[in-house]
Amino acid sequence: METFKELFQDTLKDIYFAEKAILKALPKMAKKASSKKLQMAFTRHQKETEKQVQRLENVFQMMGTKASGKRCPAIEGIIEEAEELMKEAGDDTIRDAAMLGAAQAVEHYEISRYGTLAAWADKLEMSDAAELLRATLEEERATDDKLTDLAESEINPEALETDEEDMDEEPRRRVAGGRRR
Ligand code: FE
Ligand code: FE
Ligand code: FE
Repeated sequence: METFKELFQDTLKDIYFAEKAILKALPKMAKKASSKKLQMAFTRHQKETEKQVQRLENVFQMMGTKASGKRCPAIEGIIEEAEELMKEAGDDTIRDAAMLGAAQAVEHYEISRYGTLAAWADKLEMSDAAELLRATLEEERATDDKLTDLAESEINPEALETDEEDMDEEPRRRVAGGRRR
């Protein structure tokens, strides 16, 4: 990697790999979500992610190369952490809170990558690419904001409730009984 353009392309491959990994992780998270709203948020973002992959393919095309990914250890680590938390959570509301936090870590990685790529595309005078990258950047930001709203309105208060119930209940019962509304 010797040129700015090569650096741009390398980072494009990084986020392409990451989006593909996210595309595999999101359905698993949706399946495990106990909150209907959280499930819907994951499913909706799954559809957006499919479009985002297409946008990246268009950017590769604009550069005259075919789309390819380059292994991104950062996204692998974030997803690995999410999967670990999903297994470790002994309560549905705690798992929801854990998954929501993990999903925000994913969005923040993407926001950072797309922000950088859009700025670099401007510098490289690739305005069409910059436009596509910014469209995705806005979707990632909107997703992050939506997750914050959902955490504050529903997911975190419900997770906290399990702690309050712990004071007069055997924790095992909740594990067996699952989520209560
Ligand atoms: Fe994405
Ligand atoms: Fe990466
Ligand atoms: Fe995203």
